[in-house]
Amino acid sequence: MIGETSLLLVLAAVYVAACLRWIRADAVGFLTRRGGVEALRPERLPGNARGGFAFAGLVPATRRLYVCPLPPVATDEAGVAPRRADGVPPAVRPWEARFTARGPWVLAEGQRFVHAGSEAGARRVAEALARRDGAIEGLFDRAAIGARLDEVRRVARPVRVASAVAFAWLVVAPAVALRFGLVATWLPLIVAWAAIAPPLTVLFFRAHKRLHPAAGEERFARVLTVCLSPPEAARAADTLDAHALDGFHPALVAQVLGDDATFREVAGEHLRRLRHPPTFEHGVGDETRATVRAFEARLLGALEAHLRAAGVDPQSLLAAPPALEEGMRAYCPRCLAQNLMAEGDCPDCPGVALAPLRDAGAD
Ligand SMILES: [Zn+2]
Repeated sequence: MIGETSLLLVLAAVYVAACLRWIRADAVGFLTRRGGVEALRPERLPGNARGGFAFAGLVPATRRLYVCPLPPVATDEAGVAPRRADGVPPAVRPWEARFTARGPWVLAEGQRFVHAGSEAGARRVAEALARRDGAIEGLFDRAAIGARLDEVRRVARPVRVASAVAFAWLVVAPAVALRFGLVATWLPLIVAWAAIAPPLTVLFFRAHKRLHPAAGEERFARVLTVCLSPPEAARAADTLDAHALDGFHPALVAQVLGDDATFREVAGEHLRRLRHPPTFEHGVGDETRATVRAFEARLLGALEAHLRAAGVDPQSLLAAPPALEEGMRAYCPRCLAQNLMAEGDCPDCPGVALAPLRDAGAD
């Protein structure tokens, strides 16, 4: 019995791990719920400065989790600069450089340039740079995201059904093993799994190839885990969803999947970040700084134009908040943290000056 119990605990731990998804610091997670989505910020999730783990729910196929990163590169006439450090010294590369992808990395002249978060993302960015696309086009394309969502739902459907069968096995098999003992039940349980795993693996392979044609390396690894690990098999549909909306701005994703409040909240957050950028980290050269700033100004323009087209005045998302506690005198216009000091810089956003809070009598 001890053997069965420890096996069950290991299986449960592996399953819970398969329900977690890493969300990088420059991405927003969107977890669907009845009638909308919940926007998950990595900084509010368990993790570290590089990102956080989101929990996609215990029962598969009931909720979907999409991870939506921002463009990992900045572009202007001078060239292309990484917007993430990733341990690679940030430097502007000319447009003439040969941009390719290897795994989740975008390479410039064969050297690691920037981590794009996923293999498909790296390929998409490398291809866009090769055709001199400034990495903003398509971020706010409403028709394209609608078509992509339809495609993802349609293509992933058979995998969701097969995953649900794998999940049922995952619940029933340990119960049977505990009740009748592993010695008496292991063979029928393995035979049952052998009937579930191959069709699921084939369906997963086909759907992955359809949705992420460029991610061959990732597909190989994922197909292996889905085939060999029942917990991963039960979560196979989540793997298809995770990076399916890569390439669209989080504000557009919030608008399409969420309600008006979620859209305003996510759009407001990105608007504040772009309007109040922090000072650069030590070691970033002037050229990189200029390219990143020029790119962010264009991104800000595109976001504001998108908001206006959606009938939202960007200024309405930037109003000063009221004091959350007595004694708070100012707030950070970038991260909204409130401060007892009336002036100075935000302790979390280097170089961003605090601004006065809304007067309590103003409403
Ligand atoms: Zn701040």
